[in-house]
Amino acid sequence: MGRLFVIQKHAASTLHYDFRLEVDGTLKSWAVPKGPSLNPAHKRLAVQVEDHDIKYADFEGQIGEGRYGAGQVIIWDRGTYEPIPVNEDCPIRTRLENGLLEFRLYGEKLKGKWRLVRIKGKERDWLLIKGTDKYASRTRDIVKEQPESVISGSGMPT
Ligand code: MN
Repeated sequence: MGRLFVIQKHAASTLHYDFRLEVDGTLKSWAVPKGPSLNPAHKRLAVQVEDHDIKYADFEGQIGEGRYGAGQVIIWDRGTYEPIPVNEDCPIRTRLENGLLEFRLYGEKLKGKWRLVRIKGKERDWLLIKGTDKYASRTRDIVKEQPESVISGSGMPT
């Protein structure tokens, strides 16, 4: 059974990618300043932010000026994920509490193995890292190569 994941590219005061995983009916969320990398050698900082309502996964549009996070949002990638191992004895929330979640993404852009690792001694700072598999690449730059929305095809000023 797949659970939802979404990555929203967000042109707020600084451009970032909001990486969200459905866990227990809510969206666990991390802001990734550089966005995901297909290169397993790249450790992308992912700062955990507040949980978002599951309905927010559909949001693409403009957050008005003066509001928190003002700026354009596009759905950069979306699909389902499953934890690795798929073992219901260890719930995803427990893995997150322990600071390590490995998972497989079934997105339109991102696929295969990934992991989130909390940086030792930090509460909110994690690293998002591609696993080594056939979807990994040391040469492709996925955020440059495919900047657009998977829903509307719209791009975004960078
Ligand atoms: Mn954001």
